[in-house]
Amino acid sequence: MSDVAANPDLLNEIRAFVDEQVLPLESDFLLHGFAAVRERLEDVRAVARQRGFFAPQLPPSLGGLGLGLAAVGEVSRVLGRTPLGHFVLHMQAPDVSNMELPKRWGTPAQQERWLLPLTRGELRSCFSMTEPEHAGSNPTELSTTATRDGDSWVIRGRKWFTSSADGAAFAIVMAVSNPDAARPHERASFFLVPTDTPGFRLVQNLPVMGHGGPLGEAGWASHAEVRYDDVRVPLDALVGQEGAGFAMAQERLGPGRIHHAMRWIGIAERCLELMVARAATRRLGPGVMLGHKDTVQGWIGRSWAELEAARLLVRDTARDLEVAGQKGARLRISAVKLLVADVLDRIMDKALQVHGALGMTDFTPIAFWYRHERAARIYDGPDEVHEQVIARELLGAAGMPKPAKSGA
Ligand SMILES: Cc1cc2nc3c(=O)[nH]c(=O)nc-3n(C[C@H](O)[C@H](O)[C@H](O)COP(=O)(O)OP(=O)(O)OC[C@H]3O[C@@H](n4cnc5c(N)ncnc54)[C@H](O)[C@@H]3O)c2cc1C
Repeated sequence: MSDVAANPDLLNEIRAFVDEQVLPLESDFLLHGFAAVRERLEDVRAVARQRGFFAPQLPPSLGGLGLGLAAVGEVSRVLGRTPLGHFVLHMQAPDVSNMELPKRWGTPAQQERWLLPLTRGELRSCFSMTEPEHAGSNPTELSTTATRDGDSWVIRGRKWFTSSADGAAFAIVMAVSNPDAARPHERASFFLVPTDTPGFRLVQNLPVMGHGGPLGEAGWASHAEVRYDDVRVPLDALVGQEGAGFAMAQERLGPGRIHHAMRWIGIAERCLELMVARAATRRLGPGVMLGHKDTVQGWIGRSWAELEAARLLVRDTARDLEVAGQKGARLRISAVKLLVADVLDRIMDKALQVHGALGMTDFTPIAFWYRHERAARIYDGPDEVHEQVIARELLGAAGMPKPAKSGA
């Protein structure tokens, strides 16, 4: 099975699986956190394995279904219906992107030790690039260093928003290894760091809009501050070439943006479903339902249209990426990131508004998404950066000279 198109029933089967096996866990997760559902999630993951759905993005040689990017996007959309969907099929961030790095650039020993158990879902990972002191949107300015010392690299620094570090077995860390390289984009490298290495310290799970979760309990659904206090790893902890961290980070993000964007489409679709169901059944007065109001009808109609347009753009861009590769699809990848995050933001807000006070509670998934997915407009490049990528390309094509002094 290489494509959803080759097996039109696959999506329906996954959708039914999500509805039957995953949605029943959603409420406990929303009200009591990841620890409350962790064991049952493992049971459902075992069912996903038995049914042959596990890790559909991986090639069959790594136990997956070998789906192409566009098909993986369609699966991601179905899983996006619930905050636990991606975790159950082992398509959750950051693991899904972290598998790409050792798969493409890892040595056989790195693949044996980290990639294979990661693909089998036996352990989790995290990705440690952003630092509190520097603008994450310009990762050429990192303070974390990796210095050679005999047969080791010694890593020193402080990171934050290292998602899912709580309970992860290893981190992929970006650190400056070649500070004297002429180009700032060639100064940092990636390192595989086991989280039980002395000096690796989880400081806290960050309070994201008030919800952090205690260390050891928030697990995958958390964003940590991490310190690297003289963390010593062997020389072969380096992934790929020295100084290639920035280039690999860009490569890692392209397909990842399609996964994210289709996940956001799935979330927005569920928010729209909830919005419609609420508007159709909430009585405002005798013979008057919320959905009778023009304003609400406007929100529903516009949301549906925007969502449809966004979905088609992502689907097309995924196909472009498959055919033309990262460079050929650059503008559209930026357009996807920019547009879908924006559409999601608006639909979540309208869904919450239609639910009134109920929307502010965790009795529906809307508030969870509202807290966590507002970040869609910030991570993997904030809106403004993607606007500039598109605008600069168009302005350059129109003959505009580069600015005299280029800033960040
Ligand atoms: C929920 C969440 C999960 C994350 N997970 C991870 C993770 O797993 N690993 C990791 O390393 N990092 C992670 N991050 C960090 C993320 O990559 C950074 O937040 C992102 O790169 C932006 O960096 P910053 O927060 O430092 O904002 P800054 O770079 O300080 O930017 C702040 C704001 O300035 C504006 N801005 C920035 N650049 C420009 C520009 N060129 N022109 C105009 N305006 C601009 C934008 O509005 C932006 O939101 C996560 C963040 C969030 C919120």
